[in-house]
Amino acid sequence: MLGDNTRRDIVIVGAGPAGLTAAMYCSRMGRRVLVVDKAAAGGKAASTDLIENYPGFPQGITGADLMQRMRDQAFRWDAEFQNWEVTNVRQVPEGFRLSGKTSAMTCRAVIWCAGTRERRLGVRGEERLTGRGVSYCATCDGPLYRGRRVAVIGGGDSAIAGALFLSRLATKVWVVHRRQQLRATKVLQERARQCDNLEIVWNSVVTEIVGEDRVRAIALKNLETGHSQLLEVDGVFVYIGSVPNTEPLRGVARLDEGGYVVTNETLETSCPGLFAAGDVRRTPLRQVVTAVGDGAIAAMSAEHFLASQE
Ligand code: NAP
Repeated sequence: MLGDNTRRDIVIVGAGPAGLTAAMYCSRMGRRVLVVDKAAAGGKAASTDLIENYPGFPQGITGADLMQRMRDQAFRWDAEFQNWEVTNVRQVPEGFRLSGKTSAMTCRAVIWCAGTRERRLGVRGEERLTGRGVSYCATCDGPLYRGRRVAVIGGGDSAIAGALFLSRLATKVWVVHRRQQLRATKVLQERARQCDNLEIVWNSVVTEIVGEDRVRAIALKNLETGHSQLLEVDGVFVYIGSVPNTEPLRGVARLDEGGYVVTNETLETSCPGLFAAGDVRRTPLRQVVTAVGDGAIAAMSAEHFLASQE
């Protein structure tokens, strides 16, 4: 039993690959650990179709399966999980006070692994039609578009992986990209090229998502020619990158111009006792494999921090 129910040694915010790894390390070292996430444990990786670049699974593994395994392992020791959103972080004499609408917690150290959320297009119709044809998750909503036509917006790994997944369900997939060159890795680009029902609309942006109760079409503008067209689709999957979940850290730790947490090589932030790991920090690579490494380093650093105070 953990004793005092409102205090912990370490609170880990975010239960994706970084947070779950940190939880495993911290709890195995005998710390009283709480993991808080506003959603179910697993993070964004849990809704990834197939993860082919996580070592140990030569045939690949589904995101759901991999994250289930990480969850099982993370909570094998004494780590506890709570489901609420941390919206405020402040330093107090005991360490940190984390609070949200439904709960609050005091702890000595924090590992911030809150990840990123999808960037929105910000065009007319997007908000109104979200959940009615506009989606940010192909693996979650793709099966609704079996036998239909869809568009994927973006040219990175997420867009192309999403488009390839959708191509197995939809009759036609258009990928709308604002440039003439994809950002996605070569292996995904090659698969996209070989996919019969996938077509790339180059140099184009979405200016409006059209529909009354459901998506009916997207309005596109070609940035080279200025030409506008209406593309009739039943669904739109937006994959134009991410925004870090760092709002509660503003004024507490240093963030870069994109809002990502700045850390040193031991993943300390500018605020002693506050560490950051995974996609949420400024880092050259955001993948499951790097998040897992981050989680381990941040946990060790938090342990050193606590030990130095004892
Ligand atoms: P990303 O690499 O940042 O790509 C975002 C894409 O959206 C880019 O092609 C960008 O265009 C486009 N874009 C950005 N803002 C836009 C706007 N306002 N309007 C239209 N297009 C816009 O994001 P991501 O694909 O989500 O990937 C994020 C990270 O996760 C990457 O490190 C990626 O490698 C990783 N990831 C890896 C895998 C995998 O390994 N299988 C799968 C998913 C994600 P430009 O190219 O012109 O900038």
